[in-house]
Amino acid sequence: MKGREDRIPFNRPHMTGKELYNIANSHFEGRLAGDGPYTERCHRWLEKSTGARQALLTHSCTAALEMAALLLDIEPGDEVIMPSYTFVSTANAFVLRGATPVFVDIRADTMNLDESKIEAAITEKTKAIVPVHYAGVCCDMDRITEIAQDHDLAVVEDAAQAMMSSYRSRAAGTFGTMGTYSFHETKNIISGEGGALLVNDKRYCQRAEIIREKGTDRSRFFRHEVDKYTWQEMGSSFLPGELIAAFLWAQMEEAERIILDRKTSWAFYHHHLKNMEDQGCFKRPTIPAECDHNGHMYYLVFDHLEQRDKVMAHLNSKGIDAVFHYIPLHSSPAGQRFGRVSEAMVNTDRASQCILRLPLWVNMGWCQERVCDVLEDFFS
Ligand SMILES: *Cc1c(COP(=O)(O)O)cnc(C)c1O
Repeated sequence: MKGREDRIPFNRPHMTGKELYNIANSHFEGRLAGDGPYTERCHRWLEKSTGARQALLTHSCTAALEMAALLLDIEPGDEVIMPSYTFVSTANAFVLRGATPVFVDIRADTMNLDESKIEAAITEKTKAIVPVHYAGVCCDMDRITEIAQDHDLAVVEDAAQAMMSSYRSRAAGTFGTMGTYSFHETKNIISGEGGALLVNDKRYCQRAEIIREKGTDRSRFFRHEVDKYTWQEMGSSFLPGELIAAFLWAQMEEAERIILDRKTSWAFYHHHLKNMEDQGCFKRPTIPAECDHNGHMYYLVFDHLEQRDKVMAHLNSKGIDAVFHYIPLHSSPAGQRFGRVSEAMVNTDRASQCILRLPLWVNMGWCQERVCDVLEDFFS
């Protein structure tokens, strides 16, 4: 642990210590291309721990979202409902297929897609709903699933931040037609860059393998189900190399411990910041009763931008990296060009202006007390 004079970073990637051993093992065995033994272990672990029908590693969550758009045969003219308060990849994956993202406002409590505003955004062109589980807290999947069934729409869960989170005890990413995870360095379980596609509807399983392997049936060939492999349909290379999977496997083996540590840090903030919330300094995050989160993110919500920025500047001046989050997609140049808003984006704009994210990483130790102390000094 570094000394008190050092900056407290917003994120610090956690290594378990076994990553290099696994990578050396792959090196020794001469297994470098994708879909080797470590990839296989990661797939089985993901399927077992989530209950998804099929899990496939990808080189990013972005890639998994792009696979989902291909699998759903998204075409020019189609519309896809999603929040504007999200990362660009949620929209890009569908824009790449020529579709129009239709942005729906978020809820003021969880910052998740407001399920009560989805139906007003549905037209005869709508093909899918893409809920994003912000901060690892699940959207109202009961209602979203019901709306999707009523209107015959696919659901793609952008669960980039929500690996090992659950809704009514069921894993995030397993409610939709498909779900996607990210193993980017800034997420909970990491491989630098990395991701996974969870396929829950068996009609898409075989094509998912094909699209991921350059449009070929190489996966079946490897399983000796066909005696040669050929070009079957449109696809690309979405799989990570085996060294990435070797790294990731070390993380998966310790996933429970990593999540527990993050949740403990999350609870520490929540406990120690309660008084300041009671005094009206800011609001703490809301976790609905149906949701079990994964300690991905701790944030404060201020009344307005000026107050948020003042606190952010103060923390930064004390060596603490606290950061804001998304610039809403509907107000970004590409979002205006490719997408449209369904209705007013009141809560989206407010989240963009009023949220401040606090440092949260594994083994924070005294750094957490320091963050709380600096906040307390500011408000007293
Ligand atoms: C991180 C993130 C992504 C992108 O993940 P990559 O693995 O970096 O491609 C997509 N959506 C959301 C909501 C994210 O937080």
